[in-house]
Amino acid sequence: MTSHIMPTYARQSVTFSRGEGAWLWDSEGRRYLDAVAGIAVCSLGHAHPAVHEALCRQSKILLHTSNLYGVELQAQLADRLIALSGMDNVFFANSGAEANEAAIKIARKYGHQRGIDNPVVLTMEKSFHGRTMGTLSATGNSKIKQGFAPLLAGFSHVPYNDIPALEAAIAADGNIVAIMAEPVQGEGGVNIPAADYLNRIRELCDRHNLLMILDEIQTGVGRTGKFLAYQHNGILPDVCTMAKALGNGVPIGACLARGKAAEVLTAGNHGSTFGGNPLACSAALAVLETLTGSGLIAQAAEKGEKIHAALQQALAGNPHIVSIRNKGLMIGIELDRPCAQLVGMALAQGLLINVTADNTIRLLPPLIIDDAQIATLTETLAALIQDFSR
Ligand SMILES: *Cc1c(COP(=O)(O)O)cnc(C)c1O
Repeated sequence: MTSHIMPTYARQSVTFSRGEGAWLWDSEGRRYLDAVAGIAVCSLGHAHPAVHEALCRQSKILLHTSNLYGVELQAQLADRLIALSGMDNVFFANSGAEANEAAIKIARKYGHQRGIDNPVVLTMEKSFHGRTMGTLSATGNSKIKQGFAPLLAGFSHVPYNDIPALEAAIAADGNIVAIMAEPVQGEGGVNIPAADYLNRIRELCDRHNLLMILDEIQTGVGRTGKFLAYQHNGILPDVCTMAKALGNGVPIGACLARGKAAEVLTAGNHGSTFGGNPLACSAALAVLETLTGSGLIAQAAEKGEKIHAALQQALAGNPHIVSIRNKGLMIGIELDRPCAQLVGMALAQGLLINVTADNTIRLLPPLIIDDAQIATLTETLAALIQDFSR
């Protein structure tokens, strides 16, 4: 089936041919409940009419002109993102890794402006920032770096959710120019930090004149119950990256900057052929309009609580559950053993789930998931986990 595709993924043996809302159908016509949403991408569900209409409309008018010229929809999308985020400006890319590359370049040039010739960005252990050489170097997971040395210099890793470790790293190295973190670590195992973690990072960055970079590629666009996860903390970062759900499946990434960070990159410093083209921007505008006009973001918090409570109740007393945790619709169920097998077991029952960091079931259902689907998800999954861990 995939013999001419480079084997970079361990794929499940299923191919989907159609989707609608939270449902997918495979090439044999079997139906699946999608609690992965393309890894936090299809938050409005599959085949959403607003996205469909935007793409049809725009594909008839104009797909691409180049960033050599003004792009009206890009300007409109930037205005919407700025209004929703509290940031000052945006660079558009085509993926999460690319958005993070822009963030890293901002941090480095900001360092050079401060007279630091070898700027270092502090990132977290168990973090995930992408697969390009720069973002792979930023990532705090030695398993996925294996075989790709030499990695880029200029990154230093500290434990996540550990403010004293950050303080010590800053004190030990005068070349540090930025702290980069995910508000909740996704790939790393749905790791939710202390409630004031981001506030403490903000304070450290202010005190030491560092840029605070938040990778909201997975947490952003409403997934945690706020448009951006930092909005739970009442702070603003200096740089924030988004991608995944921004286009509901149409590739688009964004690097947002504020204040001094918004002034770092100038003409000729960075670019992208496709970044922010009219087609991608039309999809993202439709996504933002639908999300903000619907109450779906606030509901993400409620639905997340509902799923958490249902799983907690169904799995109460199971000694193999280490923890069930969530921030909105980013949900992790950590077991005391590797549980990647559960993905195939769930698939056989018509349910799509993900396992990350070996031991943690990760659920990223679409924000449009309804009560009946939540019941199906939690009942099916709880039964599977009971079976598996017996
Ligand atoms: C998915 C992800 C990325 C990488 O995004 P790509 O679009 O795959 O390049 C980076 N950071 C986080 C937190 C992610 O979840």
